[in-house]
Amino acid sequence: MFHWRGEILPGVSAAFTDSSAGNLALHVGDDPDDVLRRRERLEAMMGIEPQGLRFMNQVHGTTVAVMGRESGTPDADAMVSQALPLAVMVADCIPVLLAGKSTGGPVLAAVHAGRPGVAGGVIPLAVDRMRSLGASGIKAWLGPSICGSCYEVPAPLRDEVAAGVPAAWSTTSWGTPALDLPAGARRQLEDAGVDVEYSGPCTLETESLYSYRRDRATGRFAGMVWRND
Ligand SMILES: [Zn+2]
Repeated sequence: MFHWRGEILPGVSAAFTDSSAGNLALHVGDDPDDVLRRRERLEAMMGIEPQGLRFMNQVHGTTVAVMGRESGTPDADAMVSQALPLAVMVADCIPVLLAGKSTGGPVLAAVHAGRPGVAGGVIPLAVDRMRSLGASGIKAWLGPSICGSCYEVPAPLRDEVAAGVPAAWSTTSWGTPALDLPAGARRQLEDAGVDVEYSGPCTLETESLYSYRRDRATGRFAGMVWRND
């Protein structure tokens, strides 16, 4: 069920599912009832109420949604909340989970960072929003994603992304232009003064994780961050 699970801060759990949790996305042609059943099974394993986990309609943008109890499903690629369990779905993009302390309790964030998100700075934007809510001592977990030795892109695209995020410049293991999104994300977090405490393996090279580059007709696994107190 879980590829990795632990405490990102005292009282705040974080985890990434593996493919044994099944596809958790509604937008990839799977039966919606099956997806909702899998989400409820996941919520039970996390110890949270059914349908308590908040998902977003991920659009490869840089919108950060601040989530409250009345919030619906936002069109966004980052969510920030002081109370609600948050989820991000991926299959090669980076699921970034964040948590910081504030006087009002922990501030949580879940970010979907693919190529456009890393290039557009959605991760630092989410960190800024967390700090605007009073968060300090922010910790980050970078979940499994396609690595810089596997993520082949055309040379002009590598140049375009690396112009803004030099750490993302990479070469595949077979010698062609590539992007190292986890390296780019790590540098953005370090530049923002955020400690990266976990970094997951390559999705394309890990059979127990979904990878869009390995299998176009694939499901999505999830990263979740939630209060356990
Ligand atoms: Zn790889």
